Amino acid sequence: MKLTDEVINDIRDSANIVDVVKHYINLTKKGRSYVGLCPFHDDHSPSLSVSEDKQIYKCFVCGNGGNVFTFVSNFKKISFPEAVKEVADIIGKPIEIDLAPKKVSKYQPYYDLLSKMITYCTYLLSASKLGQDALAYLYKRGITDEEIEYFSIGYNPDNNLIYQYLKNNGEKDEDMIKAGVCRMLDSGMADVFYKRIVFPIHDSEGNPIAFTARDFTGQSDSKYINSNENVIYTKGDNLYNYHRARQAARKAGYVIVCEGVIDVIAYYRAGKENVVATLGTACTKKQIELLKSMCDKVVLSYDGDNAG
Ligand SMILES: [Zn+2]
Repeated sequence: MKLTDEVINDIRDSANIVDVVKHYINLTKKGRSYVGLCPFHDDHSPSLSVSEDKQIYKCFVCGNGGNVFTFVSNFKKISFPEAVKEVADIIGKPIEIDLAPKKVSKYQPYYDLLSKMITYCTYLLSASKLGQDALAYLYKRGITDEEIEYFSIGYNPDNNLIYQYLKNNGEKDEDMIKAGVCRMLDSGMADVFYKRIVFPIHDSEGNPIAFTARDFTGQSDSKYINSNENVIYTKGDNLYNYHRARQAARKAGYVIVCEGVIDVIAYYRAGKENVVATLGTACTKKQIELLKSMCDKVVLSYDGDNAG
């Protein structure tokens, strides 16, 4: 059954607020109304008044008030649809409504796995001695603690710390491989991103799906490495920072497209949150669709230098 206005009105008309409130607290009749101790503040003299005529309640001290659904929702700290269902039960007109939360994606276990990795890498960067050099490098580039937290920047100093951490947190080898964060070598399981600063990449809903990771020691041939395509990540299907930039872009009426994560962070520092990055790839059809979904105006900001 769908929770339509018709259903809601029917339940409200059938319910007597006095009986429903009495279900939870004591009420006594006083004149044309009923009064009781207010459950929404530390009440010692009855401050809550319930009007049978108007079918509303009001506390004269804390101001809490509303109709029968408001009361149940506030009293039980439940959502409006849940409160409607609860009132329907109390008055003996039970309704079957679907209160299940949004359907969980079949990829949720991988998002969770990546979230664990992000938590661990941010700890390694910001709170562990092992992260000192990487942190010093970021500071030198002008990146602040606030930016590190906002962009969930992390670090992995060694080649199987993430594997050990994920394993200790209940993740299976095969899932770590599928999610693109570990691989099986002759010597055993190893991390894909190590001795690098890691920047998580999210999908348009804000689920973590991949990483771009920067070498800061100058010892690697490739300054950045990115996740390979896998069950949750398709190259060119996403824009870095899209989920954070979307609202700001709509508000500003334009979106700035730049090349790399460091550019996005620099814009953020300058007060611009309507910024996304293509992460080195040429703009794909899918990325153009994503840009169109944000707003009409796109400002390109490619500096032509080596990114980051
Ligand atoms: Zn009150």
